[in-house]
Amino acid sequence: MKFYSTSSKNIQVSFEEAVWQGMAADGGLFVPETIDQLPENFWRNFFQKSFHQISFEVASHFLKGALPDDDLKKIIYQALVFDAPLVKVESTIFALELFHGPTLAFKDFGARFLAAVLGYQTARKQEEITILVATSGDTGSAVAHGFFNLPGIQVVVLYPSGKVSESQEKQFTTLGGNVTALEVEGTFDDCQRLVKQAFGDGEIKRKRILTSANSINIARLLPQMFYYFRAFQQLPQGTSQPVVISVPSGNFGNLTAGLWAKKMGLPVDRFVAATNINDVVPEYLRTQIFKSIDSKTTISNAMDVGDPSNFTRMMALYSRDHAALTKDVSGYKFTDEETVKAIREVYRAFNYIMDPHGAVGYLGLKKYLTSSNFSSIGIFLETAHPAKFKETVEKSIATSIQLPEPLLKLMSKEKKTICIKNDFMELKEYLLNSD
Ligand SMILES: *Cc1c(COP(=O)(O)O)cnc(C)c1O
Repeated sequence: MKFYSTSSKNIQVSFEEAVWQGMAADGGLFVPETIDQLPENFWRNFFQKSFHQISFEVASHFLKGALPDDDLKKIIYQALVFDAPLVKVESTIFALELFHGPTLAFKDFGARFLAAVLGYQTARKQEEITILVATSGDTGSAVAHGFFNLPGIQVVVLYPSGKVSESQEKQFTTLGGNVTALEVEGTFDDCQRLVKQAFGDGEIKRKRILTSANSINIARLLPQMFYYFRAFQQLPQGTSQPVVISVPSGNFGNLTAGLWAKKMGLPVDRFVAATNINDVVPEYLRTQIFKSIDSKTTISNAMDVGDPSNFTRMMALYSRDHAALTKDVSGYKFTDEETVKAIREVYRAFNYIMDPHGAVGYLGLKKYLTSSNFSSIGIFLETAHPAKFKETVEKSIATSIQLPEPLLKLMSKEKKTICIKNDFMELKEYLLNSD
């Protein structure tokens, strides 16, 4: 099975190479050559299979032998150590809770799977690698936890001093071990620039093998297919109505994984691309014109993306056919006011607490269901634990919420960082002189 670059079909690499490179040399993203329907026997006993078993069968079919079965199984068992429960919110509306991992957001699925794949590759190659990642908060914590204590892997997280929330900061500055946090006197963009410079520096490259754990890596996307299947397993027995899934979106990785799952035969009637006011994709669906924007700040800040990276993968999947895409996907955008109102109303009416991202997904689902003539079952993805956005959520529902156990434990731990100036030489010195 080959993976090709969305910028040029001539660039074709193996799965392992695609994971190693992250992004194709021409700036495109790797996508599979073909995605085939799962065989009949996948669906036989579907409801009796474990989450691990389903995930293994989906991954194995998707990768078509790129990894030996036994190794793939080990990777899945190592990565998937928490479930994705489907929780009833209203009579025909369910939340797929993706926040039961160590950093309480769905990015744990991708980060842990990527870590397991890279760990497997470095063990076989007998190499040491350094994961270098810039973060504005969530990516750093998911990556740091995913790679924590893996042999042969060093993790270096750069983050802007004073610009991430305390609970986010604790998630990647208290681990120790193979995780080092560099606290940069600068902005997130500065951190990203420093990382880019390091990747281009010959001297650093001679000393270390640098890899990125970027969200565009195919190994972060692949495991995001698993939980769409897991959602169907948990629908009430005998469900016969069409199923609509709403995905709160920023870089559109989650939605792309869902569309891949549909292509493999998951019977999703329609997807909803739900965004905050950074609505590049809903605008494309409406007008056929893709126009990136400067991102605007909102309360669902993990979706403040003005130039969504995975859009190119969606285009590749639908061969740039707008009509075909709009047959499967509807798009809506929502303001912060609407989001707050939804959090409040769903709490009051159904006693369910949504985070701002899940709330955008919920709104998208409602909007589609109201506009369609069918009676459907609706699922929205709840991508983060509400306590990660404590302030916004508490204000919305006028009630205080508890920090979950893993976050509480972290808050009492001491932060350990190395402070550096916004100066490439300081980063370089660190990378050359530490082991
Ligand atoms: C990253 C993130 C999103 C957006 O997911 P994409 O795959 O980038 O569309 C949504 N919600 C939360 C909580 C996130 O962290």
